[in-house]
Amino acid sequence: MRGLRLAGGLFVMASAAVALGVRPPWRQVELPVAEVIEVVADMSTEVFDTLRSGETLSELLARQGILDLDLTRLDPAIALDPRRLRSGLVFSFRRPAPDSSPTRISVRATPEQRVVFQRASDRWDTAVESIHWRTEPFRIEGGIDNSLYEAIDAQVSDDQLDPGQRQRLAWDLADIYAWQVDFTRDIQTGDQFRVVFDRLISEDGEIRFGRVLASDLTMSGKNLTAFRYEGGGRPTFYDADGKSLRRAFLRAPVQFRRISSTFARARRHPVLGITRRHQGTDYAASPGTPVMAAGDGVVLRAGRVGGYGNLIELRHRNGITTRYGHLRGFARGVRSGARVSQGQTIGYVGSTGVASGPHLHYEFRVNGVAKDARRVELGNGAPIGERDREAFERQRDRLKELLDAPPPGAIAQATGDTRDRWLP
Ligand SMILES: [Zn+2]
Repeated sequence: MRGLRLAGGLFVMASAAVALGVRPPWRQVELPVAEVIEVVADMSTEVFDTLRSGETLSELLARQGILDLDLTRLDPAIALDPRRLRSGLVFSFRRPAPDSSPTRISVRATPEQRVVFQRASDRWDTAVESIHWRTEPFRIEGGIDNSLYEAIDAQVSDDQLDPGQRQRLAWDLADIYAWQVDFTRDIQTGDQFRVVFDRLISEDGEIRFGRVLASDLTMSGKNLTAFRYEGGGRPTFYDADGKSLRRAFLRAPVQFRRISSTFARARRHPVLGITRRHQGTDYAASPGTPVMAAGDGVVLRAGRVGGYGNLIELRHRNGITTRYGHLRGFARGVRSGARVSQGQTIGYVGSTGVASGPHLHYEFRVNGVAKDARRVELGNGAPIGERDREAFERQRDRLKELLDAPPPGAIAQATGDTRDRWLP
């Protein structure tokens, strides 16, 4: 419809120019007469209405004067279930004249789908329009003074990526480095980041975060580069030498995204009393936050143990054990002898035992001796398969160019991937 309006506008301008005897460059554009008439006769108005909390769709439709649209028999392929609509969903109503009743209703059911109801003489026809999103690589860089989120937040404006999407970028970046960095504690003044990620831009101009393509962190003077590669399997991040960033142990057994932002500063202002004999790392998180197995292993015990409260102890390879204390409870199936894999939820943050507030007490022990889980050397990552090496190196070089490309902001697509190109 927008295309039609634009065309009509051009036609009017062209006519005016012709009347003045000027020959505009766009005069060769020939428009079918019917389309122009439709545009000129278009007195329609568009009204937006939002589904309120606790309101049914029928109530919203009634408010707009529609009583005969039956949504109970929609095609199940349409992502619009009238019984499961979230409040805040925006419906658009088009009226042919300001005081007439709507003849077209549309709603963005999902980011990829617009559902349109068009009034036919005695019924409503339903159609689904798919929304096209093009991808555009985007680059930012900056210093990390306090938290990763604040660092990203400072480099991206609302019209480049809204706050919720900036948070997703921060979370994804933290996940990529889950084996290298504990972002709740490891940040030092002077740390730096660079990241290239895909932004998704819809034909309606909305912007979403897509995925991280490459990143580079300088933390305590150490360089950590990550390049995305999907060799037919799940996407994995590799360093410049083609070694996976994955390791046998996560740096922190609680997801960065689940830890309260105030705790990101705990390094400077301890919120939990750290006693002299303390042998682990404490993570403040709200009660019920999932706790993950730091590595593949077997449950040695899962039960109540003195000051630890509810404790899980896992046995891993090479004489390593990990302990998770003060848990509110255990995940299903987590009992002595059970196998667990890295990242699996094994329990939930609580404050059982001797705990000043809800937090996870985590210990990493080698042959019975507690070590600092964030400092322990975890060796090299697995190298990329020989079969994938050449393709990886090509991709790495392209991504490195994007990562190095000044200035920050949208960058020309140098990845050679034009699949998703959308031209207006
Ligand atoms: Zn503790």
